[in-house]
Amino acid sequence: MNVHPLPPSALKGEGMTSQRARDRLATKLKEEGIRDQRVIDVLRNTPRHHFIDQALHSRAYENTALPIGHGQTISQPWVVARMTEALLEYGVPQKVLEIGTGSGYQAVVLAQLVPQVFTVERIEELLRQARRRFRQLGLSNIRSRHDDGKLGWPDEAPFDAIILTAAGDAIPHAVLDQLSPTGVLVAPVGSPSNQMLIRMRGDGQGDFIQEELGAVSFVPLLGGIG
Ligand code: SAH
Repeated sequence: MNVHPLPPSALKGEGMTSQRARDRLATKLKEEGIRDQRVIDVLRNTPRHHFIDQALHSRAYENTALPIGHGQTISQPWVVARMTEALLEYGVPQKVLEIGTGSGYQAVVLAQLVPQVFTVERIEELLRQARRRFRQLGLSNIRSRHDDGKLGWPDEAPFDAIILTAAGDAIPHAVLDQLSPTGVLVAPVGSPSNQMLIRMRGDGQGDFIQEELGAVSFVPLLGGIG
């Protein structure tokens, strides 16, 4: 199931930005334990080179995080795939909130798999660039907002799923309050040197089941807007 495939024109590329480079990345994701074929197919069909500076295009389909300016990074493809599959494991969420738009890559991956994506970024310039990419790729199911994501997006709550792509010491209360009673949240939590990817699932009675999904390395979740 791929509810919003990108237009074929989005996938034009040559050499290191070609379909062959994306196919190699998809093979690698599978080898490294990603199981959800929908997620693998979406990463295979998402032009990650559109989300980074031209000087880095030759590295777009390496399985590494890359700089996007302002001291921030586009996440490693494996981590994007793992977090996305963890969000979708119990069913396709209708409304997803992302905190930390960054390049917009994770939002574009999600927007091909779920009906509605809401994404919040604190650095205005990064958000401006991400919005341009959403438009260029013809995705109309992403709404974005320049704000402190620690506040969530109260007017649009509740969300069936929430993903944080920056790491704080804990999940901000306001964000957790915006998760539906049976929703799923995936986030890196901890200090820069010691972070764990966690998943929380609401049991419908106001409690959460928490699991640890493995060690990760994300930029910090900061307060206020940039
Ligand atoms: N999902 C992004 C990853 C970007 S890195 C991608 O696919 O490219 C994390 C992003 O979180 C950075 O852009 C950073 O500015 C942003 N961020 C950090 N703290 C934030 C906060 N409190 N609210 C909103 N965005 C935040």
